[in-house]
Amino acid sequence: MAEVWTIAESEGGRLKEVSFELLARGRALSDELGVPLASVVLTNEIESHELERLAWYGADTIYVAQDPNLHPFTVASHAALLTALVGHHAPQIILAAATTTGRTLLPYLAVKLGCGLTADCTALAIEEGTGNLLQIRPAIGGNIMATIKSPDHRPQMATIRPRSTPLGEPDEKRRATVRAIDVPTDVHDPVQVLGLRPFGDQSASIENASVVVAGGKGLKRRDNFTLVENLASSLGGEVGASRDAVDRGWASYPHQVGLSGKTITPELYVAVGISGAIQHLAGIKTAKTIVSINRDSEANILALADFAIIGDLFGIIPVLLRRLEERRKIQ
Ligand SMILES: Cc1cc2nc3c(=O)[nH]c(=O)nc-3n(C[C@H](O)[C@H](O)[C@H](O)COP(=O)(O)OP(=O)(O)OC[C@H]3O[C@@H](n4cnc5c(N)ncnc54)[C@H](O)[C@@H]3O)c2cc1C
Repeated sequence: MAEVWTIAESEGGRLKEVSFELLARGRALSDELGVPLASVVLTNEIESHELERLAWYGADTIYVAQDPNLHPFTVASHAALLTALVGHHAPQIILAAATTTGRTLLPYLAVKLGCGLTADCTALAIEEGTGNLLQIRPAIGGNIMATIKSPDHRPQMATIRPRSTPLGEPDEKRRATVRAIDVPTDVHDPVQVLGLRPFGDQSASIENASVVVAGGKGLKRRDNFTLVENLASSLGGEVGASRDAVDRGWASYPHQVGLSGKTITPELYVAVGISGAIQHLAGIKTAKTIVSINRDSEANILALADFAIIGDLFGIIPVLLRRLEERRKIQ
């Protein structure tokens, strides 16, 4: 019974949340296929409690390779290990996160294994009758949903957007078989990591924020973007931006919300001067409450918004800021 695999990610001995999101996806597929689910952990260090948590979230088997050479991540060493592991166990499906690591590792692995890969899937299903993995993702600028399958090659591989999958309930009684993987010492890795340095503006952590206030082209100029920054700070949130605002240099890429930016899951999302193009909406469907501030009463974003303030943002935001300040003084 060929297994379904998920590739876990870790840092400093702890698993990243996306590892559990992948298990939620993997569990649904393996239950439907009636096969075991395994999680693969390639790392320099991992706490044993973290492996238990993989079992709680659905893993039946955990393959663990722990070796100082596996950190920092380099694609050749991780792919060499995975290629050997796949050769040995022949899983039918491999899921990884659409993070920098997953997006680097899986294409490399797909070439090594001579099989297909669908990046950035938003949904997965099993095809009735054939058992093929249906890999579903937006295509043609987000205007259609494409269903992709690889009927002739195994394993079938896909990457999944972080935070696009609700976590399953952990079952603390579940146990998994842990299998240690030997790490070969003779892998030639053409990449040598000399050091790690943050790239650009790392301050934007909109994926984890409970409040995000985002600005779009309606702000007209970079200077006006401070209105969005002030509203975000007044609400204790982070600053987001439409792609248009990012392309104009009003905010940096880590702030971009949407199909080619980030998927976010805040309690409150405020879109200021953003029309709600389909590619933008792709990143906010998972927000709990959406408020739009837009002068166009027919803007696309109203299809998703829970509340809309229709009017000129340059009049509305200063009033909002004043009211929030007054409230703070009363409290
Ligand atoms: C492959 C692909 C990927 C993409 N990925 C993304 C993505 O990840 N994220 C993303 O955002 N876009 C993405 N886009 C771009 C997307 O199609 C839109 O072009 C973009 O989202 C528009 O940004 P906007 O809403 O800021 O601008 P606009 O669409 O121009 O909207 C500006 C809005 O501001 C309002 N407005 C103007 N003045 C005022 C005022 N004074 N007061 C109040 N409201 C006002 C207008 O009514 C309008 O609704 C992608 C496009 C493609 C093709």
